[in-house]
Amino acid sequence: MFIKDNLNNILKTLPAPVKLIAVSKTKPTSAVLEAYGAGQRSFGENKIQEMVNKYDELPKDIEWHMIGHLQSNKVKYMAHFVHLIHGVDSFKTLKEINKQAVKHNRVINCLLQLKIAKEDTKFGLSLPEVENILASEEFKNLKNIKIQGLMGMASFTEDTSEVRSEFKTLKKYFNTLKQTSFNNFNLTILSMGMSGDYQIAIEEGSTMVRVGSSIFGERNYK
Ligand SMILES: *Cc1c(COP(=O)(O)O)cnc(C)c1O
Repeated sequence: MFIKDNLNNILKTLPAPVKLIAVSKTKPTSAVLEAYGAGQRSFGENKIQEMVNKYDELPKDIEWHMIGHLQSNKVKYMAHFVHLIHGVDSFKTLKEINKQAVKHNRVINCLLQLKIAKEDTKFGLSLPEVENILASEEFKNLKNIKIQGLMGMASFTEDTSEVRSEFKTLKKYFNTLKQTSFNNFNLTILSMGMSGDYQIAIEEGSTMVRVGSSIFGERNYK
């Protein structure tokens, strides 16, 4: 029952336009089903194989979000069902997603991950790298992807002013890149905020939060 209560407590605090992605990585399908029973339909995973297994076993009206770092060679396993890929951080990966989307005759929605944290461990593109991608003719020919927004992860730190300033930076990138629009690029989603920092992220303009441990409890990686 605690999953349902956690979920409802979080949903109560979210402003209406902010979408909640329940991050179920490492958690069993029974936990996903409990959240599903409470009405949650959007779930996030960071490993493709784990997401595929859950997709196969669980109700088909679940929207699956890939939030982890992507290996291009695994995109094919989720291309037929993934709802939104948050962590796209290279042109190469975009091209692979497009290629797999063509095979399934669909358009795959993506977010570009931008690096805002000071930590070296976090992935992401820089603003100039995104601008270079957008400037290329090759990008405009990727007709089976749709970039709908940006994603970012703040530093893992107690220093909330640092976290806030990183989210402000991402929002600034979002506003800048929103000026550009193509058939396959039109920014409306800003995916930022996790269990520890989603309130700050919302104050700084997040439209999509990815919350795991505050819903499902701490993860056990053993
Ligand atoms: C695990 C993960 C989350 C959720 O983290 P919590 O702190 O458990 O809320 C959000 N985003 C990404 C990219 C993650 O890998």
